[in-house]
Amino acid sequence: MSTYGRFPLTLVRGAGCRVWDDRDRSYLDFVAGIATCTLGHAHPAMVQAVTQQMQTLHHVSNLYYIPPQGDLAKWLVDHSCADRVFFCNSGAEANEGAIKLARKYAHVRRGIENPVIVTAQASFHGRTLATVTATGQPKYQQNFSPLVPGFHYVPYNDLAALEAVIEALDAETPQVAAILLEPLQGEGGVRPGDQAYFQRVRQLCDEKEILLILDEVQTGMGRTGHLWGHETLGIEPDIFTSAKGLGGGVPIGAVLCKASCDVFQPGDHASTYGGNPLVCAVALSVCQTLEREHILQNVQQRGEQLRSGLQTLASKYPHLISEVRGWGLINGLELKPDQPVTAIEVVKAAMQEGLLLVPAGPQVVRFVPPLIVSAEEVEQALALCDLALAQV
Ligand code: PLP
Repeated sequence: MSTYGRFPLTLVRGAGCRVWDDRDRSYLDFVAGIATCTLGHAHPAMVQAVTQQMQTLHHVSNLYYIPPQGDLAKWLVDHSCADRVFFCNSGAEANEGAIKLARKYAHVRRGIENPVIVTAQASFHGRTLATVTATGQPKYQQNFSPLVPGFHYVPYNDLAALEAVIEALDAETPQVAAILLEPLQGEGGVRPGDQAYFQRVRQLCDEKEILLILDEVQTGMGRTGHLWGHETLGIEPDIFTSAKGLGGGVPIGAVLCKASCDVFQPGDHASTYGGNPLVCAVALSVCQTLEREHILQNVQQRGEQLRSGLQTLASKYPHLISEVRGWGLINGLELKPDQPVTAIEVVKAAMQEGLLLVPAGPQVVRFVPPLIVSAEEVEQALALCDLALAQV
């Protein structure tokens, strides 16, 4: 089906931070499957994990214990504030699981009959019916009504607005079951969360027994320079979700939560493929490589290098660029609203120069390279981006 507006480019192979098209032209990949290929392309650790697990046992049902699933869950629990993990196949599916968990918690622990989940305007949580409803962007919801009931939207990083909405919704009887936020809004334009805001939201949730759910689908697995975006904000969520970078490019998602809010029982939630041996073995190889090769340090250093280079470009093209922002290796170049060039035009010009970039909304160009990107590759990308900006 024609669900994608594709670029006229056919990619056939990749290695590290480079991909090649069907005419054997190479591109520096600062899209990484949209913040997904943590270790770049064809990383030896992933190749070995796929090969070995495929030769051993690639799929069995969740009716049985699956060692690589247990190993991956243990790694995640050991490296986060979570105690429990449910595996699925994508970011949207992980958020669906989190929504179901929060609703069940509201029903069985708080006696709320019609739970409401508050989410942010300009957020992005996925394309299934519940997650597209949670997404605070009407353009993604148009023509898909009736949407799922039980969602309410507030401006991002705006404490007064959030407090007012909770007060209004809970005025007669408690209704607010959870607040669902991205630590940094990715699709919504690479907008970092405000630390003071998130810390106050955490307090508010504690005071009112509201669950704080963080969507770490894009910010998780080291992308922000910490393993989880919420570490950058200095808070712990009750529930958070992961996907994208977790598998480094194989389809996996996860719902992670504290033991105190794990109200799921056998039969409540399931997935045929979720947590299968093949994807879990690969995801575990991604996790272990991140740790063994101290990749978070690289994310912090390369992130600073990239932002500083983008600031230099912003000074060189002041008529075009209004702001550079981001954390670690998720960064955005915002174009001024009062000039005619759009993000997609910059992306197309960069592609001509041999650099792959992706828009985050109409005015922001997003830079989300593999987390293994080298200093030299960041310099090359900045030089190619300079050529693209000169063209547009
Ligand atoms: N949540 C966030 C923050 C995302 O950025 C995305 C995808 O871009 C999703 C959820 C949906 O993930 P998926 O496309 O794997 O369903």
